[in-house]
Amino acid sequence: MTEKKEELGSEEAEVAEAQEELEEEKKPKTKEAKAEKKKKKERGAFSYYTIEGDHLTRLQPFCERCGPGYFMANHGNRYTCGHCGFTRYKQDQ
Ligand SMILES: [Zn+2]
Repeated sequence: MTEKKEELGSEEAEVAEAQEELEEEKKPKTKEAKAEKKKKKERGAFSYYTIEGDHLTRLQPFCERCGPGYFMANHGNRYTCGHCGFTRYKQDQ
């Protein structure tokens, strides 16, 4: 029956963590805290790919008009090509 005790222990820890988070939110935001939270999104060609094993997977689709090499920007409900302005709406949403 030691397993059950461990489960309870982890639950208590989670509750404690949640309470800590709440306390953090209550604290007045200082400039330092804001600066820490601000994280610039890294940009570059590498951000368009992920590596799966030995293969590269493209995260964004290519423009249908411009062809391979022209990535389309993800705008939530649609993809847009910055080169020619072509917009493709996402079907499954
Ligand atoms: Zn295009």
